[in-house]
Formats: sequence, C-alpha cells, structure tokens
Amino acid sequence: MPKRRTKRGDERTPVSGSRDVVVCGASFAGLTVARQLAGSGARVLVLDRYEIGERQTSACGIPTEWLRVMALEASARQEFSELIVHTPRGTSRYELPWTFSTFDYRQLCELLWDQCDAEFETAKIEGRDGETVRTDRGDVSAPLIVDALGWRRILASDGGYQPPDAPLSRGLEVHPGGSSDDLEIWIDRRYVPAGYSWCFPASDEQRIGVGSFDPRFHVKDTTVLLADDLERPPVRYQGNWIPHKLRPGTEDGIFFVGDSAGQCLPLTAEGIRTAFYFGIRLGEELRAVLDGRQDREAALRNYAQFIDVHEWKFRWMLRAQRLLPRLPARIQRGVIRAAGRKRFIDWAFGHYLRIASPEFALEHLPARAERRAHHGRLEREIAA
Ligand SMILES: Cc1cc2nc3c(=O)[nH]c(=O)nc-3n(C[C@H](O)[C@H](O)[C@H](O)COP(=O)(O)OP(=O)(O)OC[C@H]3O[C@@H](n4cnc5c(N)ncnc54)[C@H](O)[C@@H]3O)c2cc1C
Repeated sequence: MPKRRTKRGDERTPVSGSRDVVVCGASFAGLTVARQLAGSGARVLVLDRYEIGERQTSACGIPTEWLRVMALEASARQEFSELIVHTPRGTSRYELPWTFSTFDYRQLCELLWDQCDAEFETAKIEGRDGETVRTDRGDVSAPLIVDALGWRRILASDGGYQPPDAPLSRGLEVHPGGSSDDLEIWIDRRYVPAGYSWCFPASDEQRIGVGSFDPRFHVKDTTVLLADDLERPPVRYQGNWIPHKLRPGTEDGIFFVGDSAGQCLPLTAEGIRTAFYFGIRLGEELRAVLDGRQDREAALRNYAQFIDVHEWKFRWMLRAQRLLPRLPARIQRGVIRAAGRKRFIDWAFGHYLRIASPEFALEHLPARAERRAHHGRLEREIAA
C-alpha cells in the first residue's frame, strides 16, 4: 500500500505531472471515491493537507449498519440502542429501531485507505486552473477531478463558500475523558437558540458539543456551559462549519462530493453516511469512465441527476430546520412528546435512514470487494 507520512522540509518534493483521477480531500467522501476505484488499474492520486486520519472534525456518530457494510466495524467505539432527548421541561428516552455507533476517526480513515490502491500525497490545495489542481507542492492535472475538500468547496469556479453569509451551520465540541452509557441530545435555548447540543460517548471519551443552524451564533461559551453542566472539563476542542444546504454536485467539469456538495443532512447535521453514499455513486460513475463505458460528460450528467433525485428530501429537512426553532416552546414540547410514540419513531427513523440507506453500499460494492465476495462464494461452493 503506497502510504506516506506528512512530508516536511527537503522531503517535500514537487507534486507534478498528470493522473487519470485526482481526488482532493482524504476524509469520508474522498476516501470512499478512491475506494470505489480500487482495482481499476487507473492512476488515482489522493491529496490532503494532513495525513490520513490526522484531523478529526466530527463527533463521529453513524448508524452502526453503515460501519458494517463498509467493512469498518473495527473502528467502532460504542453502540447505542436508545436516544435520550433533554428539553427544559423534561427528558425523554427513545428506543431506536436501528442502533447508532461512535467510532475512532483515525482508525476508520485507515481502514478505508486499506481498501484503496491509490497514491497519496500531503499537499495544501490552493485552487484550480481548468484541469490542473494547484497545490503548495506543485501542479497536477487530470481529466477527472474530485473536490472532497469539505465545506469550503475550494475547486469551485467562484472560489468557494465564505461564512457567515453562506448557508452554513457551525459546530464545536470538546473531548474530555470519561465514560457513559447514554447517547444524549439537548434541545434547549440555553445552549443554542436554533440547533441542538449533544454528548456522544466513545468508550473512554465523551464528545460534548453544540451545533447552531445560525452561523452568527458563537457556540464556544455554550459548549463550555454544557461541559460544565455535565461536570466535564472543556478540553481538546474541535469544530467546523457544516453546510446545511445541498449544492450542485458538478460544475465546470469538476465533481463535488460530501460537504463540498452540501450533502450533510440539514436538521441533524449528519454528513458521514451521506459522504459514503454519494461517494460510492460518484466512484461508480468515474469507474465507468475509466473502463471506457461512458465519457466524462455522461458521468457529470449521471452524477448530477442522481443528486437531483434526493433534492426534495434535503429541501424538506431544511424547511424543518428553519421552522422548528421558530415554534413557540409549548408547541415544540408537544412535537417532541408526540414524536416519542414508538410507532412514530419507527416510521420517522426508518424514513430518515432510507435517505442514505446502508443497503446501497452492499448493492454497490467496489469491484475489488465484489470479486472477493464472488471468490469467497466459489470457495464455499467448492468446499461444500
Ligand atoms: C462538531 C461537528 C460534529 C459533527 N458530528 C457528526 C456526527 O457525529 N455524525 C455525522 O454524520 N456528521 C457529523 N458532522 C458532520 C461531518 O463531520 C461532515 O459532514 C463530514 O466530515 C463531511 O465529510 P467530507 O469528507 O465531505 O469532508 P471533511 O470531513 O471536512 O474532509 C475534508 C478533507 O479535506 C481536507 N482539506 C480541506 N481543505 C484542504 C486544502 N486546502 N488542501 C488539502 N486538503 C484540504 C481536510 O484536511 C479533510 O481531510 C459533524 C460536524 C461537526 C463540525
């Protein structure tokens, strides 16, 4: 596996030449695209300014089934079958129809990278001229370029997104040590007027944070307040902007995926499984180009159409995100109470999971994994 550590000083030889595919960004979305291209024989270069798995910017919570279907279970830290919701008027405990897990970011990224056969270089991406990506280590060209660089959307022709005017939420967390059995969220204006707060335990640490749908609301003080309320020290900060509105998945011949395409779900700010989901589909489109089954224009068209099919679901979640904080506290409480009925929970969480269903990953295994599964089946048949 061609793995490299962050290059410093004289080691930083220029990145140059051309490749078949350049994937910019080596987190959830970028690594998933690269994984789908494994075994294609194409020259795939993955770029990131940090080492793979070096910079966690998320509470790293995901429906457990997604870890299983992506062969990433080894990174799981804790599994939950209940969600506890706190409001100023009381606490409700919801039994989930599927379990949710927290995972270790570095380990998950390394496991994903193990499924790739691409080349990796650390380089800061500065922009793009046509089919050439400009980095602090030189320029590299490719007919197929993927922007998986997160919310900034750096390779966009208009130079990307800037807060606070862009449609972005903001999230901040602290990661004190300590354990807990409970997956908890707070819908409480004391912490954030529009948004929610959380405590996601991950075995020996807790990820305590606040997310605000309003980018102008500064979440630092209330993140500290929540940590204080939970009697945990506010240590090991991490935060980021979170795009809460779907953006075009293609532009000027470039493919965008994950947060760069605004694929994080509005209302819940869950963006990991959607980065996997859309990354799988994008990888398939690129693979069809590399195998000569379609040209780049068709891949751009097909990927954009695939995203379009999901647009109304994102639009409705964004409407709910805007509406819920405006409801009077009394009605908010009623909604939360009504939402606690078991039948409603099963229905709502079932629909919610199907927006980016883990079954999709099984139906669209990367060609290498498919071959492995096929061989496994043959071996079992022969042995029988
Ligand atoms: C505090 C917080 C908690 C969250 N918790 C959850 C959660 O529990 N569950 C969930 O599903 N979602 C969560 N999210 C959202 C989730 O983190 C994102 O939706 C997800 O990370 C998107 O993945 P991505 O691969 O598109 O982008 P990112 O994970 O942002 O990755 C972008 C990559 O690009 C690299 N990069 C950026 N700029 C450059 C550059 N100029 N040059 C080179 N490389 C660059 C970065 O180093 C990074 O590796 C959370 C977000 C925040 C802020």
